[in-house]
Amino acid sequence: MQQDLDPDLALDWHSAPRPDGGVLYRDLPTRREAARDLGGIVHALPGAVLRPAGGRDIAHLLSWASLRGVPASAAGTRHQMGGQASPGEGGLIIDTRSLSEIYDLQDDHITVGAGTTLRQITEAASARGLRTISGSTGYTRLTVGGVCSAGGITSTYRTGALIDSVEELEVVTAAGEIHTCTAEDNAELFNAALAGGGRGGIITRVRLALTHAPSRVRTWTLHYTQDPEQTRVMLADMRMLADRGEVDELWVQWLRDEQVDHTTYRMHVSSYYTGPEPDPQVLLQDLHREPAEVTDETWGAHAIRHDALYDTIMPEWAARPKAWSCYFLPESELAQWCDRTAAELDETDYGTPLSQGLMFPHKRTAFARPGLHLPEPTGDPNELVVLWGVLLETSNDTPAEQWLPPRMGRARRWVDHLHTLGGTVYPIGSDPVTPDDAPTTDSTDDLMATHDPHQILSGPYAGRVATHLARRHN
Ligand SMILES: Cc1cc2nc3c(=O)[nH]c(=O)nc-3n(C[C@H](O)[C@H](O)[C@H](O)COP(=O)(O)OP(=O)(O)OC[C@H]3O[C@@H](n4cnc5c(N)ncnc54)[C@H](O)[C@@H]3O)c2cc1C
Repeated sequence: MQQDLDPDLALDWHSAPRPDGGVLYRDLPTRREAARDLGGIVHALPGAVLRPAGGRDIAHLLSWASLRGVPASAAGTRHQMGGQASPGEGGLIIDTRSLSEIYDLQDDHITVGAGTTLRQITEAASARGLRTISGSTGYTRLTVGGVCSAGGITSTYRTGALIDSVEELEVVTAAGEIHTCTAEDNAELFNAALAGGGRGGIITRVRLALTHAPSRVRTWTLHYTQDPEQTRVMLADMRMLADRGEVDELWVQWLRDEQVDHTTYRMHVSSYYTGPEPDPQVLLQDLHREPAEVTDETWGAHAIRHDALYDTIMPEWAARPKAWSCYFLPESELAQWCDRTAAELDETDYGTPLSQGLMFPHKRTAFARPGLHLPEPTGDPNELVVLWGVLLETSNDTPAEQWLPPRMGRARRWVDHLHTLGGTVYPIGSDPVTPDDAPTTDSTDDLMATHDPHQILSGPYAGRVATHLARRHN
């Protein structure tokens, strides 16, 4: 639809409405800073960057942009890896980091601006003995608006994603309307915005459910060599723990161990406690491994435990191009998927200390929001869905122009194979996406056809609505 619009008109930034409290930046340094994300693969110089003071600034600019077909997107900390927060060359970036404010903190919820980081939310809640129900992402210096647009998969495997504990949103649509929505009121917009990759509208305010935090967290780490036999042993232990549902967090990491020249899974199993200490004889009984490590920390320290690592390596790490692949797999396909991908990864992939693989098992039934694009349910009430990811980055040894292309080609093959297994892309990485990978539901497409007729918020999924609607009507 955008081809019908006059491109010269789209570039007339002088006619853009002046923000009321926010700032519309057109200078080159600000636009250059916004031209890249943490993945370092996509570079697209925006035409302008809005740092809004509130929803009204966004509404005015979006209705102006919508009339002219100027592509727009929200950008938080821009930590997605494949240009997802980019509107493309000449577009409008709405830098939501200026919406960083805690409006309300009660025993059962917190209401914040979309640019507030999960770190700020975690610290504010923790200071009152509270925590988010869903737990937090591994790294917490990410905006809540950005994470809500992705989904927010955590190691708390029983409570769904971060979006499952969102109670209310304020969203500005492409047409420039400001709406409050919940799972009951204005539910279509609510569901389109959560895990919507910014397509449903710009989230400006989020209310998240909270619960009481424990005093301390005990974590046991169990090691398994990454070979076909031990992969199955590890997956059986993961399934046993998930079925019992006694521990509070469960996730698996794998790293290359240079000393023994192989890759080792580390399964991290955490138990929250305030009174008596948790008993590993009970919690870890019948597993195939004894814990190799045990840690015990306060809830506050545990909730932000990975941040320090990233803090020490930024901004050098931010500058390195990255190849992140993140997929949801049905549990039935996981063992073979692990064998296949492990055989394709070697020391040139795990070239830096932060290069690693991750698995987050989740109870399928705990995911309630339709926007998160998951494998089809099997109907088994105990079904697990697993987020599998490899997070790789260039080392100093190999120039990015040599290192990246084979990995992007491999990711394309992986995505093709993933689709044949019924898996789906979790689109936070640098995987090449097509409009078919768009986080969507039928109602998102309907909603976009109404609220965003020129698809200015489509980002890398441009063309999705037209194709999807045509397919449905044929
Ligand atoms: C070190 C690290 C660890 C991570 N760990 C996890 C993890 O454990 N679990 C997990 O699920 N994810 C994890 N992620 C991924 C992370 O959740 C997503 O990349 C998230 O989207 C980042 O938020 P952001 O503010 O950087 O979003 P951006 O990259 O700025 O934006 C991401 C997308 O959301 C849209 N968007 C941003 N803000 C808004 C808004 N206010 N309204 C509408 N759309 C918006 C953008 O247009 C874009 O499409 C991790 C990322 C990193 C870098």
